[in-house]
Amino acid sequence: MTETRAQKAQRLVDEDRVAIFDVGPIHVSAMVKGDHELYKTHIYASGNFFCTCPWGHFKSGPVIPCAHALAVKLAVAKEEER
Ligand SMILES: [Zn+2]
Repeated sequence: MTETRAQKAQRLVDEDRVAIFDVGPIHVSAMVKGDHELYKTHIYASGNFFCTCPWGHFKSGPVIPCAHALAVKLAVAKEEER
């Protein structure tokens, strides 16, 4: 069974593969260690995202985020719980 993007995002967070560099009110930048490569991921409060993975390359914008962008969102939420 293939894991969904949401499941993969959760796994990336659980495995501590998300390194957040900068958290601002409208923009978060992070590095995410994917299954194959290290990706640079940015998410914006507007819902837009940017990621250097193949999915992000083609779908950047206000569309379905890649697992990395989702993982950054989860990691930020986790940080805020502390
Ligand atoms: Zn990505």
